[in-house]
Amino acid sequence: MRVRIHRGARQVGGTCVELESQGRRLLLDLGRPLEAERDEFVPLPRVAGLLEADPTLLGIVLSHPHQDHWGQIPDVHTSVPVYTGGVAGRILREAAFFGAGAYAVATAAELRHAEPLHIGPFQVTPFAADHSAADAYSLLVEADHQRLFYTGDLRAHGRHHGRFDDLIAAPPADIDALLMEGTHVQASGAPTPRGPTEADVQAQFENTLAETKGLVLAAFSAQNIDRLCGVYAACLATGRTLVVDLYAATMAAAVGDPGAPLPGSPNYRIWVPQNQRVRIKEAGAFERVNTLGAARIFPEEMARLGAKAVVLYRDGVAAQLARMLAPDGATLVWSMWRGYLDGDRGARTRQRIRQHHWHVAHHHASGHASVADLQALVHALTPRTVVPIHSFAPERYASLFNNVVVHADGTWWEVGS
Ligand SMILES: [Zn+2]
Repeated sequence: MRVRIHRGARQVGGTCVELESQGRRLLLDLGRPLEAERDEFVPLPRVAGLLEADPTLLGIVLSHPHQDHWGQIPDVHTSVPVYTGGVAGRILREAAFFGAGAYAVATAAELRHAEPLHIGPFQVTPFAADHSAADAYSLLVEADHQRLFYTGDLRAHGRHHGRFDDLIAAPPADIDALLMEGTHVQASGAPTPRGPTEADVQAQFENTLAETKGLVLAAFSAQNIDRLCGVYAACLATGRTLVVDLYAATMAAAVGDPGAPLPGSPNYRIWVPQNQRVRIKEAGAFERVNTLGAARIFPEEMARLGAKAVVLYRDGVAAQLARMLAPDGATLVWSMWRGYLDGDRGARTRQRIRQHHWHVAHHHASGHASVADLQALVHALTPRTVVPIHSFAPERYASLFNNVVVHADGTWWEVGS
């Protein structure tokens, strides 16, 4: 089996890996680079069969539903089968309904933990992973009596850290090549220590909610269900009501995590922003609001509930929120990567912070494993080679892990060599 990383050998995001065995090929992920602007044209990787029908390209296996892993699949010829987790497919299709930068993927076959899929000469076994995306997998690919383990994106400190613990406790044997993400592998300096866990973030939220008198806005990704569960638990513990928009409620329902609220759950209300009402009307999809029942909240009640609520703050609905609520002096909990607030993307939020005199707190845990946890993974798997991917510092791997072989974007290499 040969491998060629198209993107990811020395960058985080935009991941695409091509595998070849017996003249047939399979892709692992086909992401859009994180640094690409929303409307920027990004050429597809040079993989035969992406734009024209080519039976030697057997499909694309999507490790998890984050755009830096699926973002270029919509550009691909529709004859190419796409394999996703069942929940991942649902998330993408539901997000596509709301026009939230996703697409209505047609899942060829669903990835399920520890259930091998046979795709031509490739046997692909998904391993459920702990990540900030729901329904994320690492992938064991076997062909030609060789075994490649692709971590996808993973961590050991989320609500599903048991998945990482299980992988370490009972690792697949005889791994020839471990294609391992290294988001937190830094070019220089001491490896950053393990950061806060999702449980820590939940505790931080509980403290903030208990100490805050007025309205709390919480900025987190609507697709980060681990975070939603933590924020909701903190609301229950402090007697606040979590208010989210219909898009976020739809994401939560698509995942169906037992810790995530559903319409009818206590201390949980759903509002329907103007643009989402328009979308529902256009599509005639009235069941999406009719099924909310008493969970639906209208602006007048939201304004009254404000000081006892935690309202999900997203850029797309922020202006409407500011009109409905009494936002002056509120507390904004930034529950995403700090760089999103400090960079270009955060400009409008920073302006609102100044305008409304918001108090800002930062409660966040990374979606990616610390170096110490990656070392534990390498120690458990004892692969013949470790190949960097999804990292800005591949040259640093050799000082942190054994048996590192760095492969550049665009070059073929043999899994067994
Ligand atoms: Zn990623």
